[in-house]
Amino acid sequence: MTGRLFEIREFALQDGPGVRTTAFLKGCPLRCAWCHNPEGQSFEKDTMRGGGGEERPCGEDWTADALAAELLRNADIFAQSGGGVTFSGGEPLAQAAFVAEVADKLRAAGVTCALETSGHVPEADYRAVVSRMDFVYQDLKHHDAEAFRRWCGGDLALVLRNLAWLRGSGVPFAVRVPCVPGVNDASADREAFLRLAGPGTAVEFLPYNPAAPAKYPMLGRAFPLCPTPGTPRRSATTPANASPAAGTPRKRAFRDGPAK
Ligand code: SF4
Repeated sequence: MTGRLFEIREFALQDGPGVRTTAFLKGCPLRCAWCHNPEGQSFEKDTMRGGGGEERPCGEDWTADALAAELLRNADIFAQSGGGVTFSGGEPLAQAAFVAEVADKLRAAGVTCALETSGHVPEADYRAVVSRMDFVYQDLKHHDAEAFRRWCGGDLALVLRNLAWLRGSGVPFAVRVPCVPGVNDASADREAFLRLAGPGTAVEFLPYNPAAPAKYPMLGRAFPLCPTPGTPRRSATTPANASPAAGTPRKRAFRDGPAK
């Protein structure tokens, strides 16, 4: 089987425990107004053009065998550091069968796999891939269905159905909330996210990425959103003092204690 990626990033330290290689899958069903990987949205191949005329192709096709072999080049480092491979995007589950095939090859070689997903994919695809993962970062981008539709172009009910299944699956996971000033970062929003995440769930509130607009001109596009950049990273659990799920990378979750 063949899949399409727009980046492979080695020695990643922010995408799960240990030293990791992150594979960025091309294509996403959502269009979040603050997306900082716009080159990952389209399923088609893109080209980014810098101010000096330099070009960077975005989109490369890989067979599952070739990608697994590429990702396994750092297997020794994964073993030494407790790391592994993270599938991100774009939306990796938009190429669910391909990710499942690569993950099977990695796991057969003893490499652990993590997933970063919006959860905005059909339930069958979500379950097929998540059940192969050692850890999942599940995004929650907005807690209000109308706001989610407006800012991201999606159906929140689909995300919540997948989250409900994830909660009962036994797969270790954390919820991630990308905080966007003026969109979802009020204290009332924070409380709503914690309620949606559910009791005892590790929740990371990620700061707005002020570099998000930078890639859009390189794709000949305008950045859809211009909020005030900069919100502090906070983490929380529901309820306060809940314990992280087994396998939760502790250095990333619960860093700042419960929300206030
Ligand atoms: S889900 Fe992620 S990749 Fe897709 S549009 Fe939103 S931020 Fe971008």
